[in-house]
Amino acid sequence: MHLSHTLAYFSDLVVVTAGQVVVKAANFPITELSIDSRNKTTTPFPIFFAIVGINHDGHDYIAAAYEKGIRQFVVVHPYHCAIIEKFNGVNILQVTNTLEALHQFIIFYRSKYQLPILGVAGSNGKTIVKEWMHEFLSRKYKTVSNPQSYNSQVGVPLAISLLQPSHEYGVFEAGIGQTGEMAKLASLIQPTHGLLTNIGPAHNQGFQNITQKIEEKIKLFTSCTTIYYCKDHQPIHLAMVELYGRTKVLVNWSFHNQKADYRVGYKRLSSQTTLQITTTTQRNTFVIPFRDKASIENITHCLVYLLDNGFDPRPLQLSLLQLTSIPMRMTLKAGIHRCQIIDDTYTNDMVSLTIALDFMQQQQPTKRTIILTDILQSATPDAQLYQELADLLVQYTIDRLIGIGPLMCQYKTLFPIPETIFFNGIEEYLSKKPSFKDETILVKGARTFRLERVVQTIEQNNHGTILEIDMHAIRHNLSYFRRQLNVGTKIMAMVKASCYGSGSSNFELASVLQRHGVEYLGVAYMDEGISLRQKGITLPIMVMNPTDDHFDAILDHHLEPEIYSLPLLDALACFIAERSVQSISIHLKLETGMHRLGIAATELDQLIKQLKQMPGLHIVSIFSHLAASQADLHDAYTLLQAEKFIKMAQYIEKQLAIKPLKHLLNTNGILRFPQFQFDMVRLGIGLHGVGVDQTIQPHLLPASKLKTTISQVKSIQKGDSIGYDRKAIATQAMTIATIPIGYADGLSRSFGCGKATVVIQGHECPIIGNVCMDMAMVDVTGLALKRGDEVIIFSAEHPIDRLAERVGTISYELLTQISQRVKRVYYT
Ligand SMILES: *Cc1c(COP(=O)(O)O)cnc(C)c1O
Repeated sequence: MHLSHTLAYFSDLVVVTAGQVVVKAANFPITELSIDSRNKTTTPFPIFFAIVGINHDGHDYIAAAYEKGIRQFVVVHPYHCAIIEKFNGVNILQVTNTLEALHQFIIFYRSKYQLPILGVAGSNGKTIVKEWMHEFLSRKYKTVSNPQSYNSQVGVPLAISLLQPSHEYGVFEAGIGQTGEMAKLASLIQPTHGLLTNIGPAHNQGFQNITQKIEEKIKLFTSCTTIYYCKDHQPIHLAMVELYGRTKVLVNWSFHNQKADYRVGYKRLSSQTTLQITTTTQRNTFVIPFRDKASIENITHCLVYLLDNGFDPRPLQLSLLQLTSIPMRMTLKAGIHRCQIIDDTYTNDMVSLTIALDFMQQQQPTKRTIILTDILQSATPDAQLYQELADLLVQYTIDRLIGIGPLMCQYKTLFPIPETIFFNGIEEYLSKKPSFKDETILVKGARTFRLERVVQTIEQNNHGTILEIDMHAIRHNLSYFRRQLNVGTKIMAMVKASCYGSGSSNFELASVLQRHGVEYLGVAYMDEGISLRQKGITLPIMVMNPTDDHFDAILDHHLEPEIYSLPLLDALACFIAERSVQSISIHLKLETGMHRLGIAATELDQLIKQLKQMPGLHIVSIFSHLAASQADLHDAYTLLQAEKFIKMAQYIEKQLAIKPLKHLLNTNGILRFPQFQFDMVRLGIGLHGVGVDQTIQPHLLPASKLKTTISQVKSIQKGDSIGYDRKAIATQAMTIATIPIGYADGLSRSFGCGKATVVIQGHECPIIGNVCMDMAMVDVTGLALKRGDEVIIFSAEHPIDRLAERVGTISYELLTQISQRVKRVYYT
């Protein structure tokens, strides 16, 4: 977080938390809050809150934070004296709950400010509404808002800490997972105005029913004078009137209800929508650059709010056309000449820049390049701002700076970066086109610069078909599974087959998992493990299918082979003897009923005899695999497998007097047999938010979306045939669309001839005729579609599991068969 002013002093914190001062070097100012020691701090007096979370305990990172120069700490445990003694010049405050203390501090901090603050709540759309509101508001006011979707119990405090005296407007979103949380967020944000986007049926966990969910979410508005919402969802309207009808001004809008304060009508054009917003006194028409229902609803929320607060409609129309419906999140994609691109071309301010730089630092260590535009709408004077910017880039050891814009040019002498080039504007950049090779390129700039044109010139060619992977969903799913586990049970994340098809190299996901506290990784083959090591993954990695002649490379790369048979163990013994290896870590796989790989019960004595003669061997774990963990029909068999596993493992442990980790469960095992968690579980498909029972599905977020765009739309006559072998014959005049994805991309041939559908603008369109190698045809009769329209093969809304079922397979297969020529894009 970048901040350059004093939030408060250490002594203020002591007072507001009523904590106990363990040691105090001086009454330092507090200039920045830190809760993650891995993120760089950029101001002189950060303070570290050791938050105890589900995945990790912040206390474990105090030493790391100290190493990074942090000298102020808020802790629960009077931190181990041994470490404190080594620290010099620190302030340590002890409290009973660090999250609570963080909240108390923020309530205190927030109370110093008086400015209009819009609080945004709802199930869907709140991040986009917040971003759009920020965009609109900042044309008139110095505006502050949550960076990205920092909307949780920890994210909101960090967001509020960005408030500075020069700000004139705030817009903050608040997200919750269960009851009781919103009241806390409300006390932190203290919004003066409220906006409820909508309430969806998804993620009902933590709530008894929809009414309870609404009542909880609208608690954000306790401090508001005015609340905005859509009247069309009756339960929302009733809850609002019931709770706030007498004390607050309720402003509502509707697509149908003539009695609403704002009545909204819309008409979809070929690529835009006209929106008419009417009150008793005024009528305004806007053209918006979207056609989908969700965007229309979200934009209406914004416009009603702005009109009601006296914004002039004409400039609004201008800003509207510059909006984008693309989720405004950083994405990671492959670039030309082995470059990697971090595409963050929506906003540009010091906060989001710092986040992007942090993200860049987590990538493979290569040459670091940044393409950066002028920073607009900052509260800081230019000369100071660009000095701070230069300092920041130096801190993150940027190797090459490509600055775009008049201000970047004006201040170019401030940047002591090894290599710099400056352009007055995007046109100049595009005409000169600098070249790139083996670099990680962060492209960062304000929306008005339209940097997507730069990205287009450096991204790897693609034929319109993209697999998007939502890292937020992966983290969400990981944390869901973590909550199902006993304290201390480890997770081995299975990242074989390029992370179930999601990784271009399986590195992107592995690095997120490593960062989020997964303890082990599992791959199928040695080369998968080696490629992870080469990209800087340091977690222990189990290799499931080692071969006799690979032990060398396995050892060199600190990989850990699975030993699944006596002959393989013999081969390992020979290798150890020949190379006089001192020590090697292995995992023993037992056969308990899968009948694939594994050492059988009858072989145990032989195994033990052999192991006793191999002293350099470190048996890290003993494990087995369930054959039918998802099928209740076979639960008796599963229990038998578990029983066998326990007996066999105990026998080995006793004979060898060892206590290795034991593990048995995969995704569905974790969900259905919690009693067999032992020391570790092996999580695969569940991380991707698919492949689980319907009762579990609402708790997970599907992480992958496979999409393409229409290449051509054509009309055909009754009797015309479509595609190879003339498999489909039109029984009437039809409209068909050709899409650039075929079986070579992973759109299986079994999808053809009406078996599967794709989704275009919300319509399910059957794939007709045979799927070709690189293309397929879909029936779009009756729809007004055009070249370039988005086509969804599967996504969170159009489940891959359903598609898999239709063609008689499972999501595992569909995910892993998406070929490498399909471009992967990662949303952070
Ligand atoms: C792939 C694999 C897993 C993960 O299974 P999911 O069902 O995807 O969770 C676990 N264990 C072994 C041995 C595997 O091969």
